[in-house]
Amino acid sequence: DAVVYWMRMEDLRTNDNTALSQASEHAEKAGKPLLVLFILSPQDYIAHDRSARRIDFTLRNLKNIQESLAKLHIPFCTLTHSPRTTLPSRVLSLLSEWSVTHLFANIEYEVDELRRDIEVCRLAKKEGKVQCTFLHDKCIVPPGVVTTKEGKGYTVYSPFLRSWLPHLSDKPNPLACAPAPRANPESVHSHNVFGKLFDVKVPEYVEGFQLKPTDAKQIRTCWGAGEDVAQEMLKRFLNTKSSSSRLGEVDPLAEGAKPAKNSDKDSRIAKYKDARDRVDADTTSRLSPYLAAGVISARECVRATMGLKNGKIDASRDTGIGRWVQEVAWRDFYTHVLAYFPRVSMGRPFLEKFADVKWETNEKHLQAWKDGRTGVPIVDAGMRQANTMGWMHNRVRMITAIYLVKDLMLDWRLGERYFMETLIDGDLASNNGGWQWSASTGVDPAPYFRIFNPYTQSRKADPTGEYIRHFVQELAEVRELHDPPAKLADKLGYPRPFMTHGEARERAIRRYKIPGEE
Ligand code: FAD
Repeated sequence: DAVVYWMRMEDLRTNDNTALSQASEHAEKAGKPLLVLFILSPQDYIAHDRSARRIDFTLRNLKNIQESLAKLHIPFCTLTHSPRTTLPSRVLSLLSEWSVTHLFANIEYEVDELRRDIEVCRLAKKEGKVQCTFLHDKCIVPPGVVTTKEGKGYTVYSPFLRSWLPHLSDKPNPLACAPAPRANPESVHSHNVFGKLFDVKVPEYVEGFQLKPTDAKQIRTCWGAGEDVAQEMLKRFLNTKSSSSRLGEVDPLAEGAKPAKNSDKDSRIAKYKDARDRVDADTTSRLSPYLAAGVISARECVRATMGLKNGKIDASRDTGIGRWVQEVAWRDFYTHVLAYFPRVSMGRPFLEKFADVKWETNEKHLQAWKDGRTGVPIVDAGMRQANTMGWMHNRVRMITAIYLVKDLMLDWRLGERYFMETLIDGDLASNNGGWQWSASTGVDPAPYFRIFNPYTQSRKADPTGEYIRHFVQELAEVRELHDPPAKLADKLGYPRPFMTHGEARERAIRRYKIPGEE
């Protein structure tokens, strides 16, 4: 008899992990060994536009997890399964082979994953041998708890936040750390209770998702794997100063970030309120890859901020800490939106009235956007940052997204997909939320007629020009680098923009306008 915790792509950690913690407690009480299972499902990765970078990051984290669990005599095995439609029955037959009595997992809120888990439960019930427990873990306050007076999901962030905050003081405490897993008896490890699965190695790559050697080197240097690295990143954000020399491809942990003399005033988090939209320095936490893969929990991030505030929660707009906690709340918000309105994860706009906007189909423009060769420096810098680092600053995600949708008039779903395929922190809920916000089709969206002017945005977000200089090296010596003169650009081999922003803006407003509506 045994207990299994089925780890998923969003909970790659051993600390503060709800399902792992409960599985371990249950196993100990029942006197049964605990086994951890991870299933690689390449068909799901294709269907969900998973980036090779995210898959590589997953495998690297799994290796760390396997090592940590081995110290607790907890066998960990990975298994690759295809086709994805037969995954539930494969899981059930494995559980039966290992005489498992109880399966634990954290919930994934995407439609395909929910359907898969419902099927696992249905089969388990039919066979009557395995009990299944699926738990909330991704959000600080789980979907279903924060609702409007009518019991519905929120579609606007500010009232969501007002309703979310008081829940942080609920009992049981949603910020409490889930207890660490206990060790299995030593005999579990040495007696190979799981037959041929014992000591199964984490694969080096998943077929079809292999990184090119130069990319692998770059990405692995930028984004180290493991819970210790995520903890260090969090400390770096809380206790060190931001710097502009660490903008790009550099390892965010390398060459010692300068400690903040006075953490209350100098640290990145203290300056976050005013500096977070500046892209010409390393001003944000860069924790998104770790949060998206669950290498660190969102609970832990908020708990760490409380450590700077004598144990109190600060979520006010007026402090760096408060603003950061509000950003972490955006992650909860978009996950709740996905859970309440599953259509957003099926390629449909949240605002159905914008389902029929007329899009351009210009392949050349799309490719230029992807390559960072649109001739608009801030857009190109952002896309080149994504292409080299697998990550982009939030402000530039907004600028590049709005540029694709409103200036090039290309379907937002093409951009959504490219971000998923390129970024290491691709998360369906946040990515879709960000794209639908930019396309004015989502919950709480930017109104369609308020269109970012990329040049104005560029001057505000990158006043020193460091960001553009770093990523668009053709323009490194140009004085007017936010909007370089055409002749100079020609000379430097930098493209001219496809059209003026004014023309593009008028076209977008015409296309979005719904007859009869103001
Ligand atoms: P910080 O500013 O330090 O914020 C801390 C954490 O809060 C982030 O790591 C993230 O988990 C969360 N967060 C911050 N802003 C947002 C937000 N607007 N929405 C949701 N969560 C937020 N974020 C992803 O994690 N994955 C994505 O695939 C993703 N795609 C995006 C696409 C578009 C078009 C846009 C506009 C935004 C997207 N975001 C996405 C949100 C945001 O850009 C990133 O979370 C942020 O840039 C990550 O950097 P950071 O960790 O330094 O953030």
